[in-house]
This record gives sequence, C-alpha cells and structure tokens, in this order.
Amino acid sequence: MSAVTQQTHSADHDQLSGLVIAIDGPSGSGKSSVSKAVASRLGIGYLDTGAMYRALTWWCLDQGLDLSDQDAVANASLTLPLTMGTDPAAPSVLVGGVAVDAAIRETRISESVSAVATNLAVRPVMRDLQRALMASIAAETGGVVAEGRDITTVVAPDATVRALVTASEEARLARRSKELHGDADANSVERTREQIVARDARDSTVSQFSVASDGVVTVDTSDLDFEQSVAAVLQVIEHAQSAAGES
Ligand code: C5P
Repeated sequence: MSAVTQQTHSADHDQLSGLVIAIDGPSGSGKSSVSKAVASRLGIGYLDTGAMYRALTWWCLDQGLDLSDQDAVANASLTLPLTMGTDPAAPSVLVGGVAVDAAIRETRISESVSAVATNLAVRPVMRDLQRALMASIAAETGGVVAEGRDITTVVAPDATVRALVTASEEARLARRSKELHGDADANSVERTREQIVARDARDSTVSQFSVASDGVVTVDTSDLDFEQSVAAVLQVIEHAQSAAGES
C-alpha cells in the first residue's frame, strides 16, 4: 500500500467514498491498535491522526520554534513536508523524507504535542489535510479507518461508521503503564498519570472525546481484551452496514 503525501490545504470539500470508519478516544483506550487491526481485517487503509500532530510537533522543535509562538507554529503547519504511510500492518511517518516513527513517540513529544494541538490556527489546517488524506486512502483501498480525537465530530462527521473507543481511567493507566514502563505497579502507574490524564485534560479543551456525540457508538473496552475489542468494533461496523443496506 503506497504512502499518501501531503497534498492540499483547502480540502474542505473532499468527498469521502467507500467504507469510511472514524474512531476517537482518549489515550490508552486501545483505539490505535484496535483501529489498525480493524483496517487490516477489512483490507483497507489506516490513518493515525495523532501521529500527524506528533510529526508537526517534532518538526517545529527540530526547527527550533517556540511552541507558544502560535503564529510560527500555524505557519509551520502550512508547509509541513509530511508523508503518511497508511498500510495498517506497517504504518509510517516521514517528515522531509526522514523517518520519525520512533522520534514522535518520545516523552518530549508526548509532553509538548498538546501545545500544538490546542493552537486554534493549526486545527483547521490539520482537519483539511486529514480529510484529504482520508479521501485519497479510501479512493485507493476502498476504505479507511482514521483514528484520533475529533474524527467523528470535526474531520469526518459524515463517515459511514463512527465509534468512540473508551476505557475506565484505571484500565487506560494500567495499559499505558505496561507499554511505557513494562509493568503496572503503583509507581509506574503514577509516572504514567501525567502523560495520560493531564494530556487528555489539555486536549479536551479543543476536542470532545470523552462522551460520544449524537450518532457515535461507544465501545467501552475496560473489561475487554484486545481480540474482544477488535470484535466489538467490527460488530459496530457490521450493524451500521446492515442498517445502511436496509434503509
Ligand atoms: O493519539 P496520540 O496520543 O498519538 O495523539 C497525540 C496528540 O495529538 C493528542 O494528545 C492530541 O493533542 C493530538 N490529537 C488531536 N486531534 C486528533 C488526534 C490527535 O488533537 N484527531
């Protein structure tokens, strides 16, 4: 599956065709791994919109920009040389031809990405870019699973299927703690809290991802393992497709 490169910033009217699945949720809800698995099983492309905000943050820092300089960051978003690899089995992120997959997951990026994502001049630029990418991935592969914080509400409110993947704070902290520190003992959970809870609190000032908006189906994965979570999302998709077929 080929990479899709940044193309236009005036994509307001990009038409989404094919099977378009929008998934939002907080950190540690499992939405990324579940979204990738769902895209793989359906044989369609995948877009990690959080990785796009992380890539922009990485690029701004790489250029020595002060993230509190809202105009400078907004200008950077307009010229971000981004290439998103959208194969769910091996997604990738290139900035200016440099692979930044590992770099954008570093703590310094996780801690500063909200400063970029809460910049109100950046969000419409990213929204248009994400919508354009979704349209071209769907045209290329027959569909797309796009995941983030505002995909069901702002980027693709017209998606075929919209789901909010949630989990209790306890479950999210335990999962992310295992990912970051290898275990979920009390110490590790505390160290993870800042990365999860504080970041979500900052992000929720600009996006609504803790309760589902009208027409968005909630999938609570607190008591589900990975396979059960994938099955639950696939079921939501099947229901939506059969409802669409009946109408
Ligand atoms: O999903 P992930 O944790 O990698 O997202 C990184 C950050 O990107 C979030 O904390 C949020 O600041 C931002 N984001 C966003 N809107 C999206 C996806 C991510 O603001 N649709």
